Amino acid sequence: METTTSKYDVIIVGGGPAGLTAGLYTSRAGLKSLLLERGMLGGQMVNATLVENYPGFPEGVAGSELGSLMHRQATRYGLEMVTAEVTGIGDGRPHSVATPEGSFEAAAIIIATGSEYRKLEVTGEERLSGRGVSYCATCDGFFFRNREVAVVGGGDTAITDALELSQHANKVYVIHRRDQLRAGEILQRRAFAHPKLEFIWSTVVEEVLGEKTLSGLRLRNGKTGQQSILKVDGVFVATGLMPNSRSFFDILELDDAGYIVTDETMATSTPGIFAAGDVRRNSPRQIAAAVGDGVTAAMSAFKYVQEQGNGGRSAGP
Ligand code: NAP
Repeated sequence: METTTSKYDVIIVGGGPAGLTAGLYTSRAGLKSLLLERGMLGGQMVNATLVENYPGFPEGVAGSELGSLMHRQATRYGLEMVTAEVTGIGDGRPHSVATPEGSFEAAAIIIATGSEYRKLEVTGEERLSGRGVSYCATCDGFFFRNREVAVVGGGDTAITDALELSQHANKVYVIHRRDQLRAGEILQRRAFAHPKLEFIWSTVVEEVLGEKTLSGLRLRNGKTGQQSILKVDGVFVATGLMPNSRSFFDILELDDAGYIVTDETMATSTPGIFAAGDVRRNSPRQIAAAVGDGVTAAMSAFKYVQEQGNGGRSAGP
C-alpha cells in the first residue's frame, strides 16, 4: 500500500503554552505549520484552578480558560492540529516525524512536549490511579473533604499540596524519603506549624493498598527497614516531574535528567530542531516562560526555514 507523507514548513510537537505560542507565531508568519498533540491541549496548566502570575490577568485566570484562549488564538492564522503521539523524529533534511496516525515532514521542528508527573512505580499505583491515587492536589483535593490523606515528597510541590489539602482533609501525612525537606524555608515553617500536618520521615511507599478504591499504604522506613501500614483514603504523589523527551534521545543532546539541551535561540544539538518550555534544560517551568520560549523557538525556526530557501512571508514573525 502506498503511504503519503504530509509536508510542512514547521511541525510543533506538544500543545501546551510553549507549543501553542510557537504555532501562533509560525502560522501568523506564513509558515505552513502543524501542531501534533497526543492528548489534551493546554498542557499542565489546565490542572491549575487559578493562575495568578500570568501577566494580563490581574484577578487571575483558570488554567483551563487560559489554555482554551491560547488555543483559539493559535488557530486564527491557519495552524493545523492533529491528535497524535510522536514516536520519533528523523534528523534528515527535511525532518521526518513518525506517529501511529501517519508520518509527516517539515524543514523545522519545535519540540514543546513539557514534562509529566514522576510516578512511585509501586504495586497498586496504576490500578488505583483516579481511585485514591492522584498527582494533582488542586484538581482532586476537594474529593477528600473530612478524610485522611497522604502526600509523598519533600519538595515545594509536596508542601504546597499538603497545605492546600489541609483545607479539605482532616489529616494530611507527608511521607518523605529523607529526614529533611527540600522545600523552601517559608513553606517549611508554615507546614511544621500546621496542626493537621504530620511528617513521616525517612520512609518510602512500597505498595498502594485497596480493592476498588485506595484503603492505605504499605510503608518502609529506610533507616530501620521496618514496614508499616498507614490507613488513608487518598495519596497525592508529588515527587517531581520528568521531561517528555524519551522519543528524541537518539537524535538530541539531553542532560543527565533527560531535559533537552538548547542554546538561547532554543536550537538543539540537531540543526532545524528547536525545543521550548518545560522540556528544555534550565526552564523556569512557568507558563509565561514557556510562552517566551515558544516565541523564541518560532522566530529561530522561521529564520532556519528561510535559510533553507522555503516558506513564510519575508517580513518574519
Ligand atoms: P522537586 O523539587 O524535584 O522535589 C521532588 C521531591 O520528591 C523531593 O523531595 C524528592 O526527594 C522526592 N522524590 C523524588 N523521587 C522520589 C521517589 N521515587 N520516591 C519518593 N520521593 C521522591 O519537585 P517539585 O516539588 O515538584 O518542584 C519542582 C520545581 O517547581 C522546583 O523548582 C520547585 O521550586 C518549583 N515549585 C515551586 C513552588 C512554589 O510555590 N514556589 C511550588 C511548586 C513547585 P529528595 O528531596 O530526597 O530528592
